[in-house]
Amino acid sequence: MARENPLAVLVVEDEASIRRGVCDVLAFHGHAPEGVERGDTGLQRALTKQHALVILDVMLPGMNGFEVCRELRRQLPGLPILILTARGAESDVLEGFEAGADDYVTKPFSVAELMARVDALLRRAGANGPAAEEAPFRFGAWHVDPAELRASRGARAVELTRREVALLALFAREAGRILSRRRLLREIWGFAEPDRIETRTVDMHIAKLRKKLAASSDAPIETVRGEGYRFVG
Ligand code: CA
Repeated sequence: MARENPLAVLVVEDEASIRRGVCDVLAFHGHAPEGVERGDTGLQRALTKQHALVILDVMLPGMNGFEVCRELRRQLPGLPILILTARGAESDVLEGFEAGADDYVTKPFSVAELMARVDALLRRAGANGPAAEEAPFRFGAWHVDPAELRASRGARAVELTRREVALLALFAREAGRILSRRRLLREIWGFAEPDRIETRTVDMHIAKLRKKLAASSDAPIETVRGEGYRFVG
């Protein structure tokens, strides 16, 4: 799968087999991967060469993934960062978001899973604002019609804004996953470099949406310990 302009992707992972595997998959998909073993070396590479995306393991020699992430976020606020976390370690995901990561993949992951996250991040990085979602979809017990800006459930119907439809579509697509406020601000609001201050915007919109859908049990959007939200479809 050749690309006209291969995108440089930095892979910071100390486990050789995973690093090589990820690099191979990226190369196969037309990207230009660069594998690095240590956290401090990874940080240095990311700061000296322009990359479209950084894939970052957490437990690394030299400097751990959270520290690298924090430093990258400070110096390169717009750089998409995907962290690799251990299965079941939700605290890693939350600490990663806290450090400024955009998204995560839990180990062990499949090639399809990894590439879905990579593609989404790269797409998002180049996108502005909410994507047009026109096909109707289900959100818990609700039927959402984007063209009509309406959600219905039996005889009940509520009007939605375009942004609320985009939010519901994203939650539906990513059911069961934790979505950081940072990601929501990027993807739904189109902020390239979201700031902590703007996170209240997300909270207010989610609160309003929950109220509209009376979403206690039919379509629950969970708050994940101050870091983000999750639709438990
Ligand atoms: Ca490791």
